[in-house]
Amino acid sequence: MMIVMKPSATEDEIQAVVTRIEDAGARAHPVNFALIAGPCTVESRDQVLTTADAVNAAGATMFRGGAYKPRTSPYAFQGLGVEGLRLLAEAKERTGLPIVTELMDARDLPAVLEVADVIQIGARNMQNYSLLSEVGRSGCAVLIKRGLSSTLEELLMAAEYVLKEGNENVLLCERGIRTFETAYRFTLDLTAVPVLKELTHLPVIVDPSHAAGRRALVEPLSLAAAAVGADGIIVEVHPEPDEAICDGPQQLRTDAFADYAARVEQAAAVAGKILHAAV
Ligand code: PEP
Ligand code: MN
Repeated sequence: MMIVMKPSATEDEIQAVVTRIEDAGARAHPVNFALIAGPCTVESRDQVLTTADAVNAAGATMFRGGAYKPRTSPYAFQGLGVEGLRLLAEAKERTGLPIVTELMDARDLPAVLEVADVIQIGARNMQNYSLLSEVGRSGCAVLIKRGLSSTLEELLMAAEYVLKEGNENVLLCERGIRTFETAYRFTLDLTAVPVLKELTHLPVIVDPSHAAGRRALVEPLSLAAAAVGADGIIVEVHPEPDEAICDGPQQLRTDAFADYAARVEQAAAVAGKILHAAV
């Protein structure tokens, strides 16, 4: 049974109420490691199916891809919308991989629920409380990405909005935060992993792609995330990253993904985990 954390909770109270749910079902598979892979955004049938086949063959446990994209510029590509969801459904049908996809607007919830096994709440919407409550009421599993400048307590409070609706299927995601450093896109806060695991029973997923911003950093960050005890990784993969509509420089190449996945699997094994879908 989840106990809802008080909005003004002190650190001690967080320890007392969010943590240590001894309920046997609360965390059925603590040794599982989810490798969630796929493109930043759904661009075309060929791109989606090629990527889904490649990551499936390499042992990924779930497929990611955005049909609704939170873009900094309102003039940038905003995603294929329902057509993107249809392509994700085709990838799921073909590979059997569960789907993780972002929801930005509660009005799109019914369409997203048709295909999503896990609804992603993006970093920019982590504090969109009405959206969190709505996905909470849907009962669908939710992956909540840490806001660009959010504290861990704020992330946990965002999770509470979902949990409060009786939906306990919440995954937390560290995806890099804003710091003074400009040498890479965001600062991946790996300390957050063991700290979140002290504070809560919820699975903690790491996104090395958005933190890194460039391909060469993605594997070392992934290995570190697995070794530090993350419950999974969500990583961007594209058949032709140079042609990608968004986030090309940070996307792994499909033809390099199998080697990458094998090394991540080894790192996860060091932390005592085996590859398994997150839901
Ligand atoms: C994404 O996963 O494609 C994404 C936009 O992530 P974030 O919300 O972490 O920036
Ligand atoms: Mn992206």
